[in-house]
Amino acid sequence: MTKVIGLTGGIGSGKTTVSKMFEALGVPVYNSDSEAKKIMLLPETMVLLKSNFGNDFFENDILNRKKLADLVFKNPEKLNELNAVVHPFVKKDFIIWLKKNENEKFVIKESAILFESKTNINCDKIITVIAPLYLRMQRIVERDNLVFHEIVKRINNQLSDEKKVEKSDFVIENTDLEMTKNQVLEIYKILNL
Ligand code: ATP
Repeated sequence: MTKVIGLTGGIGSGKTTVSKMFEALGVPVYNSDSEAKKIMLLPETMVLLKSNFGNDFFENDILNRKKLADLVFKNPEKLNELNAVVHPFVKKDFIIWLKKNENEKFVIKESAILFESKTNINCDKIITVIAPLYLRMQRIVERDNLVFHEIVKRINNQLSDEKKVEKSDFVIENTDLEMTKNQVLEIYKILNL
């Protein structure tokens, strides 16, 4: 049976960067976070989001994702509400995706909220990507143009690195890209044994 390897890490740690390295080695990757963003735009999800969050988050029937993100990242309760709407759809979508990859030895399931959403329970192994806080902040400022206090709020809403590491089978320290590639290769070899 195909093994599901959960891949997580805090904001800006480099999950997607690591996923791409696995993909380059031929490992199929399911990015739960980007799939969730697509799912949020589906009519069946929009109905639920409207009834949970109200019409203020929609403009001409299109979800204002930035506005919703600003709300949920400063309010853990609202974040839970959003996850409760979107997560079941992602779960179903992943099952369909996994079926298509049933001949693979293992696949990667990337998720920023792997532990928070209890998806870790259904993973055979877990990889956590870590990086020093200052580097993560720098990367997010450069990538998303977010201001410092917004990033801090998002980080404070996530499970700490220490807790994630404690619950993981592998930890990748993503500072220098070449060193990250080497760690990916080592894990790839172990998972292929
Ligand atoms: P998020 O949770 O916010 O989606 P993430 O954990 O998936 O983030 P990435 O998107 O992989 O992180 O990386 C964040 C940014 O930092 C990207 O622009 C990426 O190119 C850059 N980055 C990641 N790792 C490194 C590295 N080792 N050296 C330099 N830049 C990096």
